[in-house]
Amino acid sequence: MQFNRILLKLSGESLMGDKQYGIDEKRLQEYAEQIYEAAQTGVQIGVVIGGGNIFRGLSGATKGFDRVKGDQMGMLATVINSLALSSALTAVGQENRVFTAVRMEPVGELYSKWKAIESLERGEIAILAAGTGNPFFTTDTASALRGIEIEADAMFKGTRVDGVYTADPEKDPTATKFKTITFDEVYNRGLKVMDLTATTMCKENNLSIVVFDMDSYGNLKRVLEGEDIGTLVHV
Ligand code: UDP
Repeated sequence: MQFNRILLKLSGESLMGDKQYGIDEKRLQEYAEQIYEAAQTGVQIGVVIGGGNIFRGLSGATKGFDRVKGDQMGMLATVINSLALSSALTAVGQENRVFTAVRMEPVGELYSKWKAIESLERGEIAILAAGTGNPFFTTDTASALRGIEIEADAMFKGTRVDGVYTADPEKDPTATKFKTITFDEVYNRGLKVMDLTATTMCKENNLSIVVFDMDSYGNLKRVLEGEDIGTLVHV
């Protein structure tokens, strides 16, 4: 598969590195360097980053927070991470721009598909912050939505696991990895690649997902160059 434009999903949790909370500067720096190196090959990269290292609406609700306010806090957490990534990208010499799903200039520009594509075509990394702007969604769903909108060739889901397995490899040592798998098989086997809303959007709009381990340095570029190190989820 040839990738000219991708939507890279990074989880907020991975940004913690070895910490229990917040942003690990070393991990942030590694992400920025990897994105810079990948962009040097000419591929256009939109990034959606999660907020789970700071706040999640659902877990907030179990502690008594109003769910909608909690989700808004979660979305603001993605903005914090996006600004951190923007800053780290600038520091390594990578042009980039932050777009937000809800209006909050001058923190970022209000997102639109066309502004994001213009930015990508200028060679900037477009960081798409604040999820979908709506509560009750996740950044996986935001990645599916934005990936479809910006007409990405695939969504790259960077995780700490190196692909999709028959069972959770962190719990079941006999689990084996798929090189490729269809969306239907993901449903039928009850595998947790992303939440169902996100998975369904990708399936219905034919956006393939590459699941790979983003925490091993250099992997992003390796996957872009066609190395078979993750799992391709396709229609
Ligand atoms: N969120 C939301 N709407 C969106 C995207 C995110 O309400 O469109 C909130 C939700 O509360 C979520 C939090 O932002 O828990 C952080 O996002 P997510 O849990 O997806 O982050 P990740 O797990 O990737 O770190």
